[in-house]
Parts: sequence; structure tokens; C-alpha cells
Amino acid sequence: MVIVMAPDATSDNIGDLVELVASAGGEAYVTRGVSRTIIGLVGDVERFQDLGLAAKPGVSDVLRISVPYKLVSRENHDSRSVVSVRGVPIGGDNVTVIAGPCAVETPEQTLAAARMALEAGASLLRGGAYKPRTSPYAFQGLGEEGLKILSEVRTETGLPIVTEVVDAADVELVASYADMLQVGTRNMQNFALLQAVGDAGKPVLLKRGMSATIEEWLMAAEYIAQRGNLDIVLCERGIRTFEKATRNTLDISAVPVAQSLSHLPVIVDPSHSGGKRDLVLPLSRAAVAVGADGVIVDVHPSPESALCDGPQALLREDLAELRDLAGTLATLNGRVLTPAPDLQPTRI
Ligand code: PEP
Ligand code: MN
Repeated sequence: MVIVMAPDATSDNIGDLVELVASAGGEAYVTRGVSRTIIGLVGDVERFQDLGLAAKPGVSDVLRISVPYKLVSRENHDSRSVVSVRGVPIGGDNVTVIAGPCAVETPEQTLAAARMALEAGASLLRGGAYKPRTSPYAFQGLGEEGLKILSEVRTETGLPIVTEVVDAADVELVASYADMLQVGTRNMQNFALLQAVGDAGKPVLLKRGMSATIEEWLMAAEYIAQRGNLDIVLCERGIRTFEKATRNTLDISAVPVAQSLSHLPVIVDPSHSGGKRDLVLPLSRAAVAVGADGVIVDVHPSPESALCDGPQALLREDLAELRDLAGTLATLNGRVLTPAPDLQPTRI
């Protein structure tokens, strides 16, 4: 059983609950998050039932949920959640396109890619400043310099930024620039990182581990939620199979499965799944058609010289097609393509 405290709950409210649970022979594990406190109860659930916990001061919700991912489970949620990234919605009736370069390389390249993202119908800009590369000899990203470039491009275009953080020690710094923190496939079970992004006070894009089951993915989301941060978007990005023709195998069925098990929005990364430009539009079509809440796509002004993942980046001539397919399929599903935010320069 889990108690979700209201954002304005006091320490006394929390202390009273811990005592009450102890009086019923149970133990209460308190996690004080940035926006709210979560209390996990261990013990005889039947005895907790009689304590009238839901009516106690400071309590927002008491969840008795059969699955181990209590806070992100679909149980007790009539509708699926909408996560707002600096005012841009992901989930609900929206289909949201996130686009941008795999890695931030230069101010000019990032700005050009952001303009391509807008052409592709994107309302959020992606771009990595910290790159989790398989090879230690590959480009590792520009670090804070890359975050500064992203923030300048946000000012120029109005597009909020989604960027990856690979180390718990960098979360505070990355969160001071980013509008949404991405946790990549290689870090899906880096529990210290999950807890740190849970504390960062920013929405989180959680990619599925390339060898993770859907339940493990939801348990990873639970680590973030357990810190009081429920602004989580799940991203299916392909899994490891025996097939070598694609970089990863896009598990399209993971979208409706995760949506049925969790109230969190679920988007798809067709670029890192297929790993090939020619697959990005077909896989995007499949993703929006199956009901994904959006796609996150690599674009690059000159993929032949990209420092990371050039072969999967869309070209200028592909952008209108992405925008049109996302818009058309969103409408067919009774949804709308999320418009780009008001393109006035935004200063943080
Ligand atoms: C990325 O989106 O830049 C990335 C590295 O993705 P993944 O973690 O899915 O490989
Ligand atoms: Mn990449």
C-alpha cells in the first residue's frame, strides 16, 4: 500500500501517519520528494484498511494496487496522464513530435536542426550534450557547452529542450538548463540516476532498456515516481533480438501494452529503433497509428558529417512527410498534433 501526500502536507501530518501505521504493526517508508512525499507501507494490508488513512490530514491518495509498480500503474486511473513540458503537453488527446540532432555539435548545427524540427511538426527540441556512447573513443558530447547551445537555441526558436543526463552527479546542472531530462536505454536501471532525476523537479523521458521487459521498464519509472515526481513519459526505442537487419527491433506492441498497464504517456523513437533513415517514416507511421502519444526523431542539417548517428537522421526532404503523417494519423485516432509553442523568444 502507498500513501501519496498532498504537496502542502506538514511534517507533523507525516509523523502522525508513521506512528499510526506502527500502531497497527506495520512499517512506513517515507520518501520526501521535491514536490510531494510518498509513504510506502509494509505489513498486513487488512489492518491498515481500518485506520481511515485516506481521511487523515495531508493525505492526497491511498493506493492499494496489486502490481509492484504502484504509482505508475493504470489501476485506479480512469484516464491516462498528460505531462506538460514547459507548457507543451505529451499524452491525452495529443500526438507530440520531438525532433532534433542526436548530439549537439555547434550552435549553427543545433539551430539548423531546430528549424528542421519545426518543419517536421515538432513542439519540443531534442539534442544530447552528454552522450552515452558504446565506444569510449566516440564523441562523448560537449557537456555544459552543449547545454548552453541548447538554451540559446531555445531562446531563438521558443522550442523547449529535452536532453539526456547520464550521471547522477550531473543531474542538477543538466536540470538547470533542460525542460525535460532524458534517461537513455543504457541507464534505465541506473537506480541512483533514476532517484536523482526523480528529485530534480523536471519532467523525465524514460527510454526502455534495450533488454528490459515492460515490467522492468515500469519498475524503473516507479523509482522516479517514488521520489514524488510523476511527470514521466515512457519511450519505446527498440529492443535486442536475433535480427541484425535493424539496429534494434521496434517493439510496437509495447505501446498498447504499456498504455494498458500504466497511466503514463508512451512515445516511440523510430530513429534509434531502426537505426536507418529509410525506416524512420514507416516506423513513425506505425507508432502514431498504434496509438503512441508521440515520436522522438533525429534530424540533422548534414548527416554525412554528423558526429553521432548520421545514418538515421532525417533529411530536409523528409520533414514535411513526418509532419503530415503525424497530423493525419493523429486526426484518424481522434487526436491532434501538438502545435509548436508560441514562437516568441523564451528566456529562462
Ligand atoms: C538518444 O536518444 O540520443 C539515445 C542515445 O538513445 P538510446 O538511449 O535510446 O540509445
Ligand atoms: Mn543517437
